[in-house]
Amino acid sequence: MRIEHIRQRLADLGAKPVHIQRVLRLWAQALPQEGGKRRPEDFLPQSVREGLDALLAEVMGLATLRSAHPGADGSERLLVGLSGGQTCESVLLPRDGLCVSSQVGCAVGCVFCMTGQDGLLRQIGSAEIVAQVALARTRRPVKKVVFMGMGEPSHNLDNVLEAIDLLGTLGNIGHKNLVFSTVGDPRAFERLLSLPAARVRPALALSLHSTRAELRARLLPRAAPMTPEELVDAGERYARATGYPIQYQWTLLEGINDSEAEMEGIVRLLHGKYALMNLIPYNEVDALDFKRPSWERAAEMARWLHRRGILTKLRHSAGQDVDGGCGQLRARESARPAHRKPVPIPLVSADTLRAVADSVQPLADRAREGG
Ligand code: SF4
Repeated sequence: MRIEHIRQRLADLGAKPVHIQRVLRLWAQALPQEGGKRRPEDFLPQSVREGLDALLAEVMGLATLRSAHPGADGSERLLVGLSGGQTCESVLLPRDGLCVSSQVGCAVGCVFCMTGQDGLLRQIGSAEIVAQVALARTRRPVKKVVFMGMGEPSHNLDNVLEAIDLLGTLGNIGHKNLVFSTVGDPRAFERLLSLPAARVRPALALSLHSTRAELRARLLPRAAPMTPEELVDAGERYARATGYPIQYQWTLLEGINDSEAEMEGIVRLLHGKYALMNLIPYNEVDALDFKRPSWERAAEMARWLHRRGILTKLRHSAGQDVDGGCGQLRARESARPAHRKPVPIPLVSADTLRAVADSVQPLADRAREGG
């Protein structure tokens, strides 16, 4: 379901724009509809009040909790039920962050990612994205939303941008705390760059993973055919337009993209750019044959990049990383016989996800101060 459908249903009940805003605001913020400065009976037309319960019951059913899996670091991974029996994952992050899914499955098919293994199963509607936030807010406050869960947001642009717009306005999330994470797509860059400054413009995270076009095409087989140079050019334009640095994501795969040549490629591409490089050692998955480099090796790479002027963060990822880990919970649920009880997943750190959202702010502040 899309937000537009909820608006239309409310309008059909006789709601005016101001009434629709109120209902959507309270829903997105997980506040009771009886709350607010004015009581519903003093504010909403009777026809709206009469139809509201049924509509809200439907809206609340858009994202329901199937199981919750707390992590040792304070994160909590949620398996979320969607209409039609499908599920997706959301992750509550320490310090008020939330990672949401934009698709069930994913067509990009990254070879190191569980979500990509089955291809795209279905799009997640804009209302279902906001419903993930509303559901999470019934458990904890949410002040940041990163689109780094299942799916590729640029393959579901209308729904993702509609959700971002609502979350950045009625949903009470700061614009720079909305992070659109993508493998890169010309249509997405075009849409993002055309968003007027007065509208909600999210921060941008770009999954690079290799500076070699041919290797990147093998790792991300159905990503849009943009070279790493074209990606960085487009990212830089967006960073300069918005004042938010680009978060580059690099899942470190041992023996594949952790070579000196790749590190030199990163320096060549990112030197002088308004950007932050996140190195994320791969989180190994039984079903996939990729290895995580040692922490010492990864730390040395981060230091090497730093010495050459690339602002680099090495992200802990004991159980889950931004791209490579998503989809494991859903995959396990799908594989589990119906009569068995949910098994807690050994989820550990959501540090990578949280840090991406966190690190936008100081960089943006520094840029504003001319640093
Ligand atoms: S890593 Fe992201 S883009 Fe790649 S298949 Fe998984 S969900 Fe899709």
